[in-house]
Amino acid sequence: MRIAVISDVHGNLLALDAVLASAGAVDAVWHLGDVVGYGPEPDAVVERLAAIGAIGVRGNHDAAACGGTEIEWFNPDARSAMEWTRQVVAEPTRAWLSALPERRETGGFTLVHGSGRDPIWEYVTTPAAAAASLVAMDTPHGLNGHTHVPAAYRVVDDRVGRLGPDRGTSESAVALGGGRLLLNPGSVGQPRDGDPRASYLIVDTDAGTASWTRVAYDIVAVDSAMRAAGLPRRLAERLHHGL
Ligand code: ZN
Repeated sequence: MRIAVISDVHGNLLALDAVLASAGAVDAVWHLGDVVGYGPEPDAVVERLAAIGAIGVRGNHDAAACGGTEIEWFNPDARSAMEWTRQVVAEPTRAWLSALPERRETGGFTLVHGSGRDPIWEYVTTPAAAAASLVAMDTPHGLNGHTHVPAAYRVVDDRVGRLGPDRGTSESAVALGGGRLLLNPGSVGQPRDGDPRASYLIVDTDAGTASWTRVAYDIVAVDSAMRAAGLPRRLAERLHHGL
């Protein structure tokens, strides 16, 4: 099986389409939440994911878009964008987002947005948090998003280390064997690791590899769409820097 793993699309349709074109023919698309929020095209992103049969989990922005109290914890720009999102999303989008579970197990992987121990909110940014996340998962490997930073942690016995991916490259890979892995594909629609290109992961269970790819997309067009929608300027500007 060749699976495209994506996360944190955040209503950025042009970034999503660039990723899907780059990934090419795959057997499945798994998403790790935050499908909407920040970006200008929440309905179109959900329509695209529904059309290709993507399966996935709920992020904090997806929960907030459906009316959840998660919005109380957002910073002012995120909150402003979420209030806009709540106003514009169509009912089928809300229904699709509402149906997303907090966690999902499939093909030997547990999918969550945040972490194994807190699927909605925890940011996994350290080896210790990655190890704790895997302890709270029953599958060999785990997949998470939320940080918008691609990452791979491997646990062997009780030792945990960060493997990568390599920064600044277009492609980077790790082997699936040799210990439990927690893998973060990075963000499609709003990368925060200093590389503005969309980030995604391909899991190839036959080859036994997980590989990250970065894809350029038309950031200027997304910036214009955000400006036209009246979304916060800082959210559009950060797309150019990947921060
Ligand atoms: Zn996010």
